[in-house]
Amino acid sequence: MAELNLILLGPPGAGKGTQATNLTADFGLPHIATGDILRAAVAGETELGREAKRYMDAGDLVPDKVITGVILERVAEDDARDGFVLDGFPRTVDQADSLGKELEARERRLTGVLLIDTPDDVVIKRISGRRVSRKTGRIYHVDFDPPTHEGRCDVDGSELIQRDDDREETVRKRLVVYHEQTEPLIAYYEDLGLLRRFDGTRSPSEVHAHIRATIATLRLEDEL
Ligand code: AMP
Repeated sequence: MAELNLILLGPPGAGKGTQATNLTADFGLPHIATGDILRAAVAGETELGREAKRYMDAGDLVPDKVITGVILERVAEDDARDGFVLDGFPRTVDQADSLGKELEARERRLTGVLLIDTPDDVVIKRISGRRVSRKTGRIYHVDFDPPTHEGRCDVDGSELIQRDDDREETVRKRLVVYHEQTEPLIAYYEDLGLLRRFDGTRSPSEVHAHIRATIATLRLEDEL
């Protein structure tokens, strides 16, 4: 079976993480989420975390040279041999070029780039209502998926907080950064014939069904 090397593209709050988790369950591929890797580095106070934190808190991108090496090494690990789901990388044309070169050097190539198209107003409503338990990692939404007791995690009653980068003003900043720096990747991957579009305003299960159908087609095309 050919490798399944996928990128999830889209603004913050499009549901990339949710769909990546689904794809991991469907195909047993590692979910490589740059945001999670960086947040773990910040929490662990590693050198990477110390370098990344101030950019993340401000809603800016971490510089390419700080993040690219980390992700390229991760993609080369054993568990990603049969494929991977990249979530949050690449986010700039430079990062996309680096990834392309790295894959080519290893005689690998991308299977597809899945764009979850989601308008800004939907993103702002989704992210600014997001709350998370620092202890359990469980994520809630004040309107769409509220906990049983306000401000408390259903799992263990721990306090729910809003991530610094989920505050509305930071979300607006992240969207500006997305439009300026990441959106050019749509044309970039379209030119390479790799882009597939999904409607991010649909329910997570509908988006998942569409993605599955598309991957089945991509695989068939791959075998031809
Ligand atoms: P995320 O959870 O994917 O939205 O990422 C959270 C934050 O981590 C972003 O706002 C950026 O500051 C940083 N980040 C994540 N992925 C990247 C990337 N590929 N390049 C630069 N910064 C990134």
